[in-house]
Amino acid sequence: MNFNLVCGIETHVELNTLSKIFCGCSSAYGGEPNSRCCPICTGQPGALPFLNKKVISFAVRAGLALNCKISERVVLDRKNYFYPDLPKGYQISQHKTPLCKDGYILLDSGKRVNIKRLHIEEDAGKLVHDEGVTFIDYNRSGVPLIEIVTEPNVSSAEEAEEYISKLQEIMRGIGVSNCKMQEGGMRHDVNVSLKSDDGKIVGERCEIKNLNSIANVVKAIYCEQKRQSEALLKGEVLQRVTLRYDEKSAKTVQTRQKENENDYRYFPEPDCPIIKIEKEFIDEIAQSMPELPNQRLLRYIRELKIDENSAKKIYKYNGVCRFIEDTIKLGASVKNTVNLTVGCIFSHLESEDAKINFNICVTADSMAKLIALLDGKKINVTLAQTTLIKMLKSGKKLEECILPEQLSGLSDDELIKICARAISENAKAVADFKAGKQKALKALFGFIKKQSLGKADLIKAEKILLDLLK
Ligand code: ADP
Ligand code: MG
Ligand code: ZN
Repeated sequence: MNFNLVCGIETHVELNTLSKIFCGCSSAYGGEPNSRCCPICTGQPGALPFLNKKVISFAVRAGLALNCKISERVVLDRKNYFYPDLPKGYQISQHKTPLCKDGYILLDSGKRVNIKRLHIEEDAGKLVHDEGVTFIDYNRSGVPLIEIVTEPNVSSAEEAEEYISKLQEIMRGIGVSNCKMQEGGMRHDVNVSLKSDDGKIVGERCEIKNLNSIANVVKAIYCEQKRQSEALLKGEVLQRVTLRYDEKSAKTVQTRQKENENDYRYFPEPDCPIIKIEKEFIDEIAQSMPELPNQRLLRYIRELKIDENSAKKIYKYNGVCRFIEDTIKLGASVKNTVNLTVGCIFSHLESEDAKINFNICVTADSMAKLIALLDGKKINVTLAQTTLIKMLKSGKKLEECILPEQLSGLSDDELIKICARAISENAKAVADFKAGKQKALKALFGFIKKQSLGKADLIKAEKILLDLLK
């Protein structure tokens, strides 16, 4: 018997507003434990919440980017439960009336993953376990979150992966969240059940809580799919349980029986009035919406004629894209700008975080000047690359990284002369090459590069060398 995956994903995204959702404390990540809290976000008696308007505008922005309908009112509810990281004994969230609903994310296949709702709520504090002692850090308590809930129409681990990467790209693209999964800035609960070929749900849906990386989401889905189908094939009855994914054993582990909705005793938050959202407020946000990542990707391929491969490497990094577009506006050719960025700047930046933050000392202005030399054939690609790397590493200006002599071209005659010298002055490499070591040519290239001040076209040089060595 064949089972098909039925999966719905709930994602918590921390908004990057400066202050928390109901008080003026900083919502920045980290900090000395319990240094960013006050009577409001630690739930002390008598303290009253005061809703941060920025949270509403960020959430509406996210909702619009996810093709959602926006509610006309902000209604907040209390979700009651006890846990040490939740000092009030309840979380202010949204229950019956989410701020946004009925949206979707389009996958590359053309399939829509439907988004049922997007609501705002406050984050809880953090428990830190250390050798039998547990500490509580309330800095995160009251950090604004949006929770984005899909319909159960994700049908494979690969679709879940694509959905989450697109969601992350969009949230970063519109600037509402950094979505740093390793800092808990984006966390996922994944609901899994199975259906038979005729579309009937078999067994029970289980929820794997608090997954903090895309890789773990994928692994947890595979794992849970396997566990459920093996149980069903053995004729076991599945229970509706909550699980966590244990990285060490690579297994899903049961944590508790799922509480049902009644346990939370949701009721309207009496300390927060219902707020009407004006149409103008939403229109303003819609009008200030930046180009979305997928729109940018299409524009790069269709209008800027960037090859698809390179376009896919750059489109999701706002800073990188701004730099490239600024450079092009200053007259640089698209092709050389993109190639040098992907070739040199990306290898200089290395990590994903470095690409996201995009903090380099080369300005678009000096990049454009460098590329003007390349476009005008004053220098070749190799020299452009070495110069750019020098600029990136040293923070020096273009004029300081390239010598005036390097800007005069190199005639074919001069190149032939240098090649001949390379042969006469590198006897050992030449002997090695003649004995069959192709790699020995490298030493000759090094010589030619140096003697020509990096101006030699190495493809031409190779032809000349092979000719002379015949
Ligand atoms: P609850 O209120 O119990 O958390 P919801 O209807 O809000 O339930 O759904 C929570 C998540 O579970 C959603 O992402 C939804 O898509 C998903 N879900 C609902 N039914 C199923 C199912 N049969 N299999 C897998 N996921 C499901
Ligand atoms: Mg849930
Ligand atoms: Zn506070």
